[in-house]
Amino acid sequence: LVDFRAEKPNWCPGCGDFTVLAALQKAAVNLGLEPENMVTVSGVGCSGKISQYMGGYGFHSLHGRSLPVATAVKTANKDLTVVAAGGDGDGYGIGMGHFLHAVRRNVDITYIVMDNHIYGLTTGQTSPTTDKGMKTKTSPTGATEEPVHPLQMAIMAGAGFVAQGFSGNLKQLTELIEKGMQHKGFSLINVYSPCVTFNKVNTYDFYKEHLVNVDEDASYDRTDRFAAIKKIEETNENLVGVIYENTDRLAFHEAISTFPEVPIAKNDLQISREDWNKVAAQFK
Ligand code: SF4
Repeated sequence: LVDFRAEKPNWCPGCGDFTVLAALQKAAVNLGLEPENMVTVSGVGCSGKISQYMGGYGFHSLHGRSLPVATAVKTANKDLTVVAAGGDGDGYGIGMGHFLHAVRRNVDITYIVMDNHIYGLTTGQTSPTTDKGMKTKTSPTGATEEPVHPLQMAIMAGAGFVAQGFSGNLKQLTELIEKGMQHKGFSLINVYSPCVTFNKVNTYDFYKEHLVNVDEDASYDRTDRFAAIKKIEETNENLVGVIYENTDRLAFHEAISTFPEVPIAKNDLQISREDWNKVAAQFK
């Protein structure tokens, strides 16, 4: 486990993101991954720091751009385990277009969204998943917009693995991340990860009281797309577990018949050292 620990986090004490980091580290160890075979790509926000804290390779990208970077990494070297991570503002606001296109392409990436219903790093503004009516710095009389619905959107766009976890349950979250990493294709793990500093509504106590665990319901059919949507709506999105699973679709790199068997990243450079030095000199 020590190989997957990089910098010491400086999140606020009690922030849900600590559990997400611990779950990701445990999942990597449980799956026998070596740090050099894993890349964590993050966007911008408190949660974006996870690429610095997670051992292995990391790439702290631009706001909302973790998925295009993660797509490039996976396309250049399909042998890597690639995780993209960020917050609800990052992924479902400025990054929403990339989210839907990554789902539809079915790139073999595990996307972990630390969803705290608020912008934490910029000190408490309304985010795309803020509940309607909630008072924040930018909605002092209550948010007027409808929140986005990432679970339903991912299922309707064709995601093959959609799960939701909670930072109050490390064991289940670790299992969900492991399953997401093992899924061949795009997997979304939305995590209710409380911002203890700026969101006093969606707290640990709130989730403990309201969350329904579909993993404990033997009658729940997670392969039924319409049943999954119905369950999400019935619970008002307050559910955890594997919500939808479909293993029929080929991942992006499997679906392209001409996709190189040897990853581009492992090809020898067809350029002499002398010529390479000339090219590199132009960028000095
Ligand atoms: Fe976590 Fe909120 Fe603090 Fe950011 S501001 S580190 S999201 S508790």
